[in-house]
Amino acid sequence: MRALLLDDHGDLAVVGRQEPGTLPGTTVVRVTGCGLCGTDRHITRGEYPAKRPVVLGHEFGGIVQATTPGSGVQVGDLVSVDPNITCGRCTDCQAGRTAFCPELTAIGVDIDGGLSELIGAPNTQIHRLDAHVSPLHAAFAEPLACCLRGMDLAGLSGGERVAVLGGGVMGQLVAQLARLAGAEVVMVTRNATRQNLAVDLGARSGVSLDVAEQVVANSGGFDTVFECAGSTQTFLGAQRLARRGGSVIVLGLTAQDDVVPMRPFDLVVQELRIVGSFLNPLTHARACTLISSGTVVLDPLISRVIGLAEVPAALRAEAAPGEVKIVVDPSQ
Ligand SMILES: [Zn+2]
Ligand SMILES: [Zn+2]
Repeated sequence: MRALLLDDHGDLAVVGRQEPGTLPGTTVVRVTGCGLCGTDRHITRGEYPAKRPVVLGHEFGGIVQATTPGSGVQVGDLVSVDPNITCGRCTDCQAGRTAFCPELTAIGVDIDGGLSELIGAPNTQIHRLDAHVSPLHAAFAEPLACCLRGMDLAGLSGGERVAVLGGGVMGQLVAQLARLAGAEVVMVTRNATRQNLAVDLGARSGVSLDVAEQVVANSGGFDTVFECAGSTQTFLGAQRLARRGGSVIVLGLTAQDDVVPMRPFDLVVQELRIVGSFLNPLTHARACTLISSGTVVLDPLISRVIGLAEVPAALRAEAAPGEVKIVVDPSQ
């Protein structure tokens, strides 16, 4: 079978690999959709800790090809794979803080991932999706689960004014979730295509960061700001958009060594809550329920479907203007 390998030198190539056996405690999945994301680009450039060599791909799902006792699914089922394997026994796992498990092992980061025709994954990571769901949509469960973590931390209860920075897949999903939670949402991104997409999916408006800062100057800051762009500029911009006593939920990942100038004075007198949101602790099943129920709109978020051979070029290039999500179909 073919897989997309990041080698010791940071080179990407499609390679031949042995098919996964049906090991006890695992389910073999034929991957039908694997999303590419900023984390994959960071890993490729050495800006995010990952094992090398490794088969990339942490946002994926597919059709069950083989089961073992405990799989909980049947051959032919469409499933999503939660890439983050935790021990379940440590203090953090027991307290529901599974993202901090010292034994956390991420599929597609620490061990071989979903940019592969077939993958064997632990039964604990397998989540069934309804049969009518598009096989490509299985790729969205992981990013959606990460967005649900951000929503849990934001604690919206309805009627809030919310700004979302970043019109990529995380921003578009967070904007939809905030809308579903009863908030009025402004999408903040410089790209008009992404602004319009967010409005089509329920945001009240889409504006650039400059314009958003004008809105704040005229009519006050936002109750909650979601930073989903992952740049130092938007990290600081998010703080300028929040009202006094407001919250900034940071989902966007910058490079590990990026630093920003901040004035602690402002943090105190503004009583800003700046909250990091990491991974998908115990939210993956909820993401699958949202996808199966069709509550979150996904088709317009798919910019391109590509084969494995096109992945190296796609990961080396920056996301094209207006592009939201590239989904890889490893059968191509
Ligand atoms: Zn990702
Ligand atoms: Zn643990």
